[in-house]
Amino acid sequence: RPGLLTRGLDRLTGTDSAVTVHALTDVSLDVPRGEVMGIVGESGCGKSTLGRIVSGIYAPTDGEVKLDGKPVAQGPDGNVQKLTTRVQMIHQDPFASLNPRMKVGETIAEGPRLHGLMTGEEARQRVRQLLRQVGLEGAYANRLPHQFSGGQRQRIAIARALAMEPELLVLDEAVASLDVSIQAQVLNLFMDLRRELDLTALFISHDLSVVRHVCDRVAIMYLGRVVELATAEELYARPMHPYTEALFASVPTLGTGRAAFKPIKGEIPSPIDPPPGCAFHPRCPFAGPRCRAEVPRLKPSPQGRSVACHLHDGGTGSEETPREVAA
Ligand code: SF4
Ligand code: MG
Repeated sequence: RPGLLTRGLDRLTGTDSAVTVHALTDVSLDVPRGEVMGIVGESGCGKSTLGRIVSGIYAPTDGEVKLDGKPVAQGPDGNVQKLTTRVQMIHQDPFASLNPRMKVGETIAEGPRLHGLMTGEEARQRVRQLLRQVGLEGAYANRLPHQFSGGQRQRIAIARALAMEPELLVLDEAVASLDVSIQAQVLNLFMDLRRELDLTALFISHDLSVVRHVCDRVAIMYLGRVVELATAEELYARPMHPYTEALFASVPTLGTGRAAFKPIKGEIPSPIDPPPGCAFHPRCPFAGPRCRAEVPRLKPSPQGRSVACHLHDGGTGSEETPREVAA
């Protein structure tokens, strides 16, 4: 079935400076309808930029975004159509994303009203239904955001997004600002809604333990590139890219016991002046001469996994083989 498609998003230009930052390079992802795809990486890896391009907030300087096979956002040669109805974004901070002076019922109905999707009594009924759908009481429609807890506000933000009946949800660190127990509640709600409404979503997060619960497939990003793409099941059973392994090893509860190293060494390099070859090479314990010279491409393996690493594609050029690499 047709789904979301991004092809070769490249060279997003930083417009607030004279420097061109390639925030995303060579990122191509397909999200079939009904799938929840995780986008994981440390801050600065480009995952939020990807979410904003897919949401139509940023225009890519190259590449395109398609929904159901039709371009919806593309570079300067094409028109960028704001995806105000078809793609809805849920942000990290529910405090900042709700208008403090607007009753939450009005906030939820605002988008559909602006787009003429519903009016008057119909909108009031729908708002109450949406509030109940996200586990709140219909009567809460008359309250202001400050009367709610962080978790409740995030539920309201979800109701507001669902009011538009989007084809794609983009959740950018949607539970990151919540306490762990509240995170679990909001994630469970999302899982219920997902089943009920057959939602399609990009789930952007730095938190591998959160992603594990909600995502079907996961793309690991490093410095603007996807370095590994696999089903959640496969990825959590066996990360293949050294960066993915390092990410897993840095989360104690997810340690696979087979990672050769612990917290990721070194800083993320500046995207303004990324290292040549594999951008992870200054931090990678397996780096060889080839890694410093040649950018590893994301290659689909016969098993359906994709990894961008010379270890898994002919070797690093190092004299010694640092370890056995299974196919
Ligand atoms: Fe490490 Fe080389 Fe693989 Fe990059 S390509 S992750 S430097 S082994
Ligand atoms: Mg971010």
